[in-house]
Amino acid sequence: MPGLEDFLRKPVRGMRDLAPDDFYPLKRMEELLSALAESFGYRRIETPAVEHFEVLSRKAGREIVNEIYYFRDKAGREVGLRFDMTVPVARVLSYKLEEPKPVRWYYFTKVWRYDEPQHGRYREFYQFGVELVGSESPRADAEVIALMSKALEAAGARSYEIRLNDRVGMDKILETMGIAAREEVLRILDKKGKVPEEELKALLKKAGLEDEKAEKLLELVSEPLPMGESAEFFSKYDERLGGKYAEIIKALEPYDVLDKMKLDLAIVRGLDYYTGTVFEAFVGEYKLAVGGGGRYDNLIELFSGIKTPALGFAIGVERLMEALNIGGSRPPLDYYIYPMTDEAYKVAVKLASMLREKGASVAVDLGELSLKEALEHAAKTAVKFFVIIGKKEIEKGVVKIRDMYRRTETEVELSRILRY
Ligand code: AMP
Repeated sequence: MPGLEDFLRKPVRGMRDLAPDDFYPLKRMEELLSALAESFGYRRIETPAVEHFEVLSRKAGREIVNEIYYFRDKAGREVGLRFDMTVPVARVLSYKLEEPKPVRWYYFTKVWRYDEPQHGRYREFYQFGVELVGSESPRADAEVIALMSKALEAAGARSYEIRLNDRVGMDKILETMGIAAREEVLRILDKKGKVPEEELKALLKKAGLEDEKAEKLLELVSEPLPMGESAEFFSKYDERLGGKYAEIIKALEPYDVLDKMKLDLAIVRGLDYYTGTVFEAFVGEYKLAVGGGGRYDNLIELFSGIKTPALGFAIGVERLMEALNIGGSRPPLDYYIYPMTDEAYKVAVKLASMLREKGASVAVDLGELSLKEALEHAAKTAVKFFVIIGKKEIEKGVVKIRDMYRRTETEVELSRILRY
């Protein structure tokens, strides 16, 4: 039997299998990040993978709409897989109107995007993120940004940066400069760092900017400023906005993360739903953003009809793990019990139950492997202690325990093994 063709043995393009050695490092991230969100008073949410296509597309922006996994179900409904968790959260809050505000929710779950697969880009990936809904306060901005910092730190990032910008600020800047093609210009600025400066300039000119304006704009976005200077910078364009940033800075200070933050006018972000602060996180030398977020004060109103300010962030978990070189392997079993006889099998199963009750992970050999084969299996799949129970051992009321790491063997009385 030839079995499956080679290409069918691999997951569908852009998808990844997580065998135990890949799954456990991810699970560890889930535990770390969830614990952090919980410690900030956030509670976890989960929603269906499948959403009404209309809900997904309503405020996704042109680029994302093209990336939606779209299909009709058997009843002909137009549906799609969620591409982030912000949209489903906004939908949930559009009918759970009684949920006390501000809402603090977090998630660690899969999302899907029909993106071009490449390094750091998958079609199915995990996002960890939070949504803080129902507050306009600059303190809410500070809390979410600080929480993103703490998440990167919890994951093990030492050198990282959060680059921040403001959609309103950008509008004011372009307005002041007399630049009309706002959307197109923002899309071009989003390419900064990904294409050469000369090409950016050419694109800006094509968008209708005169030489001088294109140069001035590129100069403005060229160097990120320390976050501490953001208030002064924005107040040159809009006093209220400057005031807002003074408040954000004041609220960020006690979190001790201000030094990790920069004002970077090249941060534009693709998703159409952002209305104010936008930010992206970068780790070490890793080129792609590991996370992003911002304020979306109109999205929930679009679903519920009720004006509800909100903001949040999402971290791409696989990307963060790649950037931090987090790999690993499956955790070892505590015990692999090898019974040599039918009588020993009974003892093995009983012993396994008792050990499991103590919280140990225990596998009992199924009787098809020789002792040598079972030892090899245990070594390959990671086992701490290999327990042998034979006729002789039963007569003596003992088991033989082999420490798989130290390669030592001891006899332990059955009555004492639970204390072993
Ligand atoms: P976004 O809101 O689009 O910036 O997505 C938030 C985060 O999700 C990004 O910063 C990435 O870390 C991650 N992400 C986005 N698209 C992908 C993808 N195709 N594959 C893996 N991670 C992704």
